Amino acid sequence: MKILIVGNGARESALALTLKDDSRISKLYFAKGTVTTGQLGQNVYDESVEGLRDFAIKERIDLTIVGPEAPLVEGIVDEFKKHGLKIFGPEKRAAELEGSKAFSKKFMQTNNIKTAKAVVFDAYHDAVEYVRNQKFPIVIKASGLAGGKGVVIADNLAEAESTIHKFMIERIYGDAGIQLVIEEYLKGFEASIIAFSNGKKLFPCIPVKDYKKAGNGDTGPNTGGMGSVAPSPEFTSEHYKDFEKNILEPTLAGFSTANIHFKGFIFFGLMVTADGTFLLEYNMRMGDPETQVILPLMENKLFDVINDCLEGKDIELKFKDEKAVCLVMCSGGYPRKIETGFEIRNLDKVKNSQVLFAGAKKAGDRILTSGGRVLSLVATADSYEEARKLVYEDAKTVSFDYETYRDDIGKF
Ligand code: ATP
Repeated sequence: MKILIVGNGARESALALTLKDDSRISKLYFAKGTVTTGQLGQNVYDESVEGLRDFAIKERIDLTIVGPEAPLVEGIVDEFKKHGLKIFGPEKRAAELEGSKAFSKKFMQTNNIKTAKAVVFDAYHDAVEYVRNQKFPIVIKASGLAGGKGVVIADNLAEAESTIHKFMIERIYGDAGIQLVIEEYLKGFEASIIAFSNGKKLFPCIPVKDYKKAGNGDTGPNTGGMGSVAPSPEFTSEHYKDFEKNILEPTLAGFSTANIHFKGFIFFGLMVTADGTFLLEYNMRMGDPETQVILPLMENKLFDVINDCLEGKDIELKFKDEKAVCLVMCSGGYPRKIETGFEIRNLDKVKNSQVLFAGAKKAGDRILTSGGRVLSLVATADSYEEARKLVYEDAKTVSFDYETYRDDIGKF
């Protein structure tokens, strides 16, 4: 079997490491891939939907798995299926649940899914008029994809008005700001649940805690994720019951009503407040860095689970009774201005963790930093404390100029 994985982050490296030991898989291809994936298979330097379709036809790829959101929203699944190619992910219409926050909020409201109260705006003046009569903080979201940057928590009216101006008039994120979702601010802790869909049912994995803020103790700006822990120690069975009854089941019912029957991943971004579990967003793919801690704990063979889902079969997910911790090492200054091109040293001395590259590139025999989130270190153990010790020991060993990472991942 030949498998193509689309994407070039640590998430795709985690998928690659999980699949590589399966003897049924003869070759792994990655578009565009990472340093890690280049060591495990063949990186393909094409990212366009048409280019990947032609590549998959030519190479007779047996299965394609899509990591990031952009190709899904562009319609890669529709295009592959049109040509009889097997691919795991939602069609363009279902991917809109991530691609348009306005569409997904309307879907949540129509289907009585527990979520923050919100209003969708198409006109600048209406949005400004609305925030003048609201309490603060308030959350302002550009509806389209903005690489995780299109959400602002405005603490006062001036900030709210300037954000609306930047999104709708200045269009700092282009067409993503044509529509806005303005919603009530929810105070609590976040959790992520990723589920497999077989087109009829959803099969959730263990809940994950993702560390979004740049600084220790959840301070500083939002990032693409500074680390993660599975299972989340904060998300209790009570929270889960709330999620199941008020989010998972109505989502499935909503899919049925809207005739959405995709086979792929769905990610529930949750906020747990004093009033229970609320849905912040759907992502129609696996999360990064959530994937890095889910896969090492999954007992099922990923290839089987995906194939069963593609065939519409029910699956039974099993997870080890262990803890996984992922620490993301970043270039200094991330998520703001960064400098790259520094050598990553002592990689051969890493003892305990998986090293999953993202913002890194090869230069001859050396590996250099090339992005904000440079690599993930992932370890599993019987306790959070032990898994945490393992990754931090390796983080001290690996070094590059101006490296930075949080000190409190997995500390409870
Ligand atoms: P991602 O980068 O995870 O894809 P996104 O840009 O698609 O995120 P959201 O997940 O909707 O957008 O919001 C990003 C972050 O903003 C959330 O993880 C959460 O920290 C914060 N946030 C979003 N909505 C709310 C809310 N209603 N109340 C409080 N915080 C919120």
